[in-house]
Amino acid sequence: MVNSREFENKVALVTGASSGIGRATALTFVRSGARVAIVARREKELDGLLREIIALGGDAEKFVGDVTDETFIQRAVQTTVTRWGGIDVLVNAAGIIATAPLDATSNELFDRMMDVNVRSIFLMMKAVLPSLVERKGCIVNISSVAGTRAFPNVFAYVASKAAVNAMTQCAALDLAPKGVRVNAVNPGVVVTNLHRAGGMSDEAYAKFLEHSKTTHPLGRVGRTEDVAEAILFLASARSGWITGETLAVDGGRHLTCAR
Ligand code: NDP
Repeated sequence: MVNSREFENKVALVTGASSGIGRATALTFVRSGARVAIVARREKELDGLLREIIALGGDAEKFVGDVTDETFIQRAVQTTVTRWGGIDVLVNAAGIIATAPLDATSNELFDRMMDVNVRSIFLMMKAVLPSLVERKGCIVNISSVAGTRAFPNVFAYVASKAAVNAMTQCAALDLAPKGVRVNAVNPGVVVTNLHRAGGMSDEAYAKFLEHSKTTHPLGRVGRTEDVAEAILFLASARSGWITGETLAVDGGRHLTCAR
């Protein structure tokens, strides 16, 4: 049976918390009793989330900055540990997408994609590790169906998500002897700000969502809560014997051929 307050006295650090999957994840942890450190660049959005968390009777601290900045990451982790005594769960949800095939992918775009989607996760995992080892905690990385399947016109994004899968699996092996589990969720299309922040117009996004109903066997796109629930499960004691998993949360999308 699920204990609805199963994260009471636990601390979760969630990146990408100003929007979409990270935001929904932070709220899901708060409803389950956790205290949350919320990380992103946009302060106004984090302030809005803070107000919502306080209204739920929760406790949170915001960290406004860029996850590619190692000094900022270390400050956020240290401040969280000082305030609450440690970190039990790290959720890496910050990420970006860009539409470009190989021949239109500039060096700058490739490097930016790797910095935000890959290197920041490497830096976050290393920064939080001492606390996770001490508290036998866990990591959940947000990858994508694009981490396990190839798609045209998103060259750097797909490469970055394949790297997230590989980092998740290698970290799971490296950290298993220390009692730290590392898993990923691999969402299909979920309604968030990701594609519009990546340059897609509102009109193109509406068409993309409509078409996506046909590319996801369950006949609908995802809600942020669909993914947040899977993240909560992978972070909970209920999944205590699962590590190195890259869990498809995609309405069956990964099972299909291109359509
Ligand atoms: P959103 O655009 O809604 O959220 C992305 C979050 O990442 C925002 O909070 C943004 O905050 C943060 N972020 C981006 N760049 C940085 C940075 N340099 N430093 C700090 N924070 C940053 O998108 P999603 O919620 O959809 O994306 C979350 C994750 O889910 C991503 O890794 C994405 O690849 C993955 N995913 C999403 C899918 C979808 O269809 N939506 C499908 C599969 C995977 P801010 O701008 O305030 O810094």
